Formats: sequence, C-alpha cells, structure tokens
Amino acid sequence: MPFSRFIFILIDGAPYSVFHELIKNNELPNIKKFITNKGCLKKAVSVFPSTTGPAFIPFFMGLFPGTANVPGYRWLSKKDILQHKYGRPGLCSYQGTDGLNFIVDLPDQPTLFNYFSPVSNIYNLLTKGCSPTDDRTRRKKPLAYATAHFFHGIWQHITAVASQELIKAVEEGDQFIACLFSAVDGHSHFSHTKSKAVIQSYKAVDQAIGKVCQSLYKSGDLDKTMILISSDHGMTNTKTHIDIARCLDQSGHRCLHYPLIWRRNVKSASMVSGNGMANLYFKANAIDWGERMPIEEINQRGIIDFLLKVEGLGLIAGQSEDGSIIVRNRLGKSQVSVANGTISYEFDGVDPLGYNTCYHNLSSREALIETYNTKYPDGLVQLLQIFRSSRAGDLVLSAEPGYDLRARYEYPEHRATHGGLTAEQMLIPLAVNFPIETDFIRSVDIFPTALNQFGHQIKDFEIDGQIVK
Ligand SMILES: [Zn+2]
Repeated sequence: MPFSRFIFILIDGAPYSVFHELIKNNELPNIKKFITNKGCLKKAVSVFPSTTGPAFIPFFMGLFPGTANVPGYRWLSKKDILQHKYGRPGLCSYQGTDGLNFIVDLPDQPTLFNYFSPVSNIYNLLTKGCSPTDDRTRRKKPLAYATAHFFHGIWQHITAVASQELIKAVEEGDQFIACLFSAVDGHSHFSHTKSKAVIQSYKAVDQAIGKVCQSLYKSGDLDKTMILISSDHGMTNTKTHIDIARCLDQSGHRCLHYPLIWRRNVKSASMVSGNGMANLYFKANAIDWGERMPIEEINQRGIIDFLLKVEGLGLIAGQSEDGSIIVRNRLGKSQVSVANGTISYEFDGVDPLGYNTCYHNLSSREALIETYNTKYPDGLVQLLQIFRSSRAGDLVLSAEPGYDLRARYEYPEHRATHGGLTAEQMLIPLAVNFPIETDFIRSVDIFPTALNQFGHQIKDFEIDGQIVK
C-alpha cells in the first residue's frame, strides 16, 4: 500500500472556483507544492443540501444525506414530532451547542475513524467512531461554535487552535487525523466569498499545511501520508433575503420555524439550511402532520402557485403520488423518475434545471457526467437522494444565487449563502497528493476511494459512493 497515514483537512465553505484561483495564482504555495503538484486538484460535487453537517456525511461514511436520513441542517420528522415533548428527535437544528446532537442522528455504520488507530479529530462535528479522548477539541468546540456565530473575530483564534492541534497530532504519530477549518465559511457569511478575511483564512490553512509537511518530512513520513483537502460545500454572495416563514404565514399556512419552535396552531414548517435551501412541511389536518404530502395535494391547496410568485426561488421540488420527483420553477416543470435502478428525466416547456435534454435509463454515474458542467451539477441524483429521507420536507426549495431563505433571526446578517443545488454552492475542491484521472467525482466517492488506498474494502454494508480512479 502506498500510504500508511491519512490527514483529512476539511475547509468549511470553500467553493471550487475560489480555491482553484488561489492555487493558480500561487497564493497557497504549500498546498500547491506538497499536494496538488504531487497529485491533483479536482472539481468535485458536494451533496444537496450543500451545508455543514449533512455535507460532512459523504466524506466520513460514503452516504448521501438522504440515505443517512439527515436531510438538512434543520429538519422536522413528521413521524416523531408529536411524540417528543422537548423537540427531539421530532425537530432538529445543529446550530451552536445543538451540533452535539448530530452524531445521534446518523445511521449505525462505520466512519473513517473506525478504519485507523490511533486517530484524532479537530473541530469536526462528525465524531461518530472517534472516542471522546481522541476528539482533541471536544471541550472547546461547543463554545467556539456558539460564540463564533455572533462574534466573528473568534474565527482567527479557532484557526490558530486547529493548526496547533493538527501539528501536535501529526507529531504524535496519529494514523488518521480529521481537521476542520471553519473560518472561510464563517467570514464568508459575514462578508463575501473573496473578502480579505476569507482569503486570509485560506492562507492560514496553507501555513498549517506547510508546518505539517515539514514535520512529516523530518520524521520520514511525508511520502507515506495521504493528505486530502476538500470542502463540504461552496458558497455564493447574497443580496436578498426571502422570508419564507412569513410568506407561508401570509398565505394562510401559519409556519413553525427556528427559533419560534413553540408556535401554536401552525399549519406548516420551514426548516432552512445554509440558508439557500429549505425543507417545507405541511400538516395533513389541524392536529396531525400525517405522512409526506404528495405534490399533487400541495398543488391543490394552492401552495405551489403561491410559491412560484416568490422572486428568487430557483427550484421547488416535491414527490409525486407515483414516487417520482417533480421539479417546478416559474418557467417550467420536470420529472425525475427511477425504474429498474436507472434514472429518467422529462420536462414540459422550459426545463427548470436547464439541461434541455430528456434522459432515459441513465446509470447514476451517467447522470453525474451528463449534468456535471451545468447550473445544477448532479441535480437528478441529488433530488432523488434527498427524498429518500423520511425527514425530508414535503417540498424542498433551492434559492437562486443572490438570494437566501432566512430574513429574520440571523445575526449578524448573512451576506453569503450555501445549501442550495446551484453550481457555485455544490462545486468543491478536491486536492490530494496522489493522482486521480477522472474529472467526475462526488464527495460521496471520497470515502471508498481514500480507504482503497489503504487496502480497506467496503463490505457488509451499503454506501452511495464508488471508488474513482
Ligand atoms: Zn455556513
């Protein structure tokens, strides 16, 4: 096997385009020298919703968020909401200290942590498979995330702690280290995707990589260590906030939403992720949430027509009575369906996903390749996978670039957005110090591909990803 150690760096919220430009312009010299020049920099596709939490699952478990039944940063479970008086597991947000609940919601399958020993985790919130003593920042993490959200000067401190812990773990000889750098996401939300603070945050990661590689070189481990850098999602700049909860209130569907989760007599719920994506849920009647409401019934209630009038809603998707996924926007309507394990796509009039092609009997990989360089990369498979989750909304929304779906209760105001299915939010860098030939990679493929480099095969359980070469 070429590698005996594995360092996985996750830069939260790094769009492929920004990372690629920084590498091209020699602004991340250590990453270029030690990683991309030795291996490659690829444009990979994240998952829908493209948000912290759900978008970590592919890397660590090889699963789509829909398969893992974690369809958002916030979600509602129609089945469980009335059974649990205190909100969980019927209603969920991973904001601040609530992020500690994340691993409880994950399926019972191995993570990267289970394949290596000793391991270390730094700031990453997917700690399943990592013992508390190996989770180096477990005491600092909840407070750091809760406060950094409000006082963004703290990001610099978090980055410094992450870098120190990373170098310590490398020096101590850990076989697998997962380290999250979250300042790019934090600063982007409060400024824009290329602000001075954001670029500085990328450079801080590069400096940490430089120190890591020097240490590995000294111990003779540099060539034996796989170093993989990626991101959970991209990001777009935001000008307009759509108040989706207030829109639903005004349409007569009084809406449950964070932080107003104790509202009474509600008829709908909006659970926003990132904030470019939302799961919307509708009550079957005054007291019962019922099961997933088919899009035909939602349409009969006038909700689709009402939502189509809201400016900035890029896509509205729901599940038909026949199980297929219906996609709507102001321009047209389309249908994604599965038969015998293959995917077909048809549209009426203008194609809301902009593919302008009807597809028949595509494999998952063919569907990825066909849609890779479009406004909605991997849109067909991503829309199918999210509705696999019983906790996904009756409707799933993706905002147009420039818009988000949360107008109130976001302090400080968000000026950049992710969560949606749009290319700039879905496309992520994959920098790794070994060559990969294909130009078509999902984040969900990284789990089996990385493990394969260590001779580990996936057996006895199912994943969504596949080994790419
Ligand atoms: Zn974010």
